[in-house]
Amino acid sequence: MFTPISEIGEFGLIDRISVILGEVANEDVLEGIGDDASVIRIDDDRAEVVTTDGLIEGVHFDLSFMPPEHLGAKSLTVNISDVVAMNAQPRYATLLLGLPGHVSVEMVESLYRGAKKVCDAYGVTIVGGDTTGAHQLTIGVTLIGYAHPDRVVYRRGAQPGDLLCVTGDLGSAFAGLRVLLRQRMELAEEGEGFSPNLESYRYVINRNLTPTARLGFVRQLETAGVLPHAMIDISDGLASEINHLARRSGCGASVHEAKLPIHPQTRTVARELEESPTHFALNGGEDYELLFAIAPEDAEKLDPGHVTMIGEFVEGEDVMLIREDGTSERLAATGWDHFG
Ligand code: ADP
Ligand code: MG
Repeated sequence: MFTPISEIGEFGLIDRISVILGEVANEDVLEGIGDDASVIRIDDDRAEVVTTDGLIEGVHFDLSFMPPEHLGAKSLTVNISDVVAMNAQPRYATLLLGLPGHVSVEMVESLYRGAKKVCDAYGVTIVGGDTTGAHQLTIGVTLIGYAHPDRVVYRRGAQPGDLLCVTGDLGSAFAGLRVLLRQRMELAEEGEGFSPNLESYRYVINRNLTPTARLGFVRQLETAGVLPHAMIDISDGLASEINHLARRSGCGASVHEAKLPIHPQTRTVARELEESPTHFALNGGEDYELLFAIAPEDAEKLDPGHVTMIGEFVEGEDVMLIREDGTSERLAATGWDHFG
């Protein structure tokens, strides 16, 4: 009997893989499977942080509205974001390219120009990779970073009473994706006569096409003398990530709908599509903001222009959404599952 992967989902599958790999017996492995990146102690002053993430054509992007330069940039950014989410400095990368026949030399060059630009901005050096044929354009990146072992921040570690904070705003990358999808549909319907209106949606489209990792913010945390108790980056959506933090920390959490930071353009797009901005913020994903837990006394040390307190950690295991009307409901981890 064979089990379709959709039956157990992406996370169920990773659990099955973990069982085969077994307990890690090496005490220098500070974190194996289960966080944004793995953490390996080099010595008492240095830990290495390693992560791998891939982008596959037709799954993560569509070449018809993702220019290769943006794609190269994004493939680095999503990995840098995972290293940053461990409170570490990203440093070295290797890049796997799987190339189908429809990809030209010039496209690969653009892709690398985009990758190089991001690397320069974050202090990352590409030190190698692999190139192979493939049925769809496939980009796999491995990112290595460093931190002091005592300053690495994991998904575990939040305590009841901690504040739940998030950088930037939520749901805008998803709003941008919806705008691009809508314009592609309109183009198909109206043909040549269609002229896309991208200017009114510039912010949300950029959030989707050219995401950024919050390296600057973790530097601010250090300057402010704040070490979060737990942290994760938002790749799959707030609802999913808050559940990861709560489960790994062994506590529950409450999120206040009224406090969710949502950009006016995101609200406009949601309204036009007759959908809820809260839904965009909770389940949109790909924002690459940081979601973290801090002790309440640290709150005043953070710049309110860069971070919003959206809730708190509580005893128990339930993750609850407190609606603007005062009602509350369980916030399910409805993040993106590749096999769901
Ligand atoms: P993120 O969304 O932060 O990139 P993922 O959901 O991709 O994290 O991965 C969750 C955890 O599972 C990570 O610790 C990752 O290293 C691990 N993982 C994912 N896929 C595999 C795999 N095929 N083999 C081993 N570990 C994996
Ligand atoms: Mg992550």
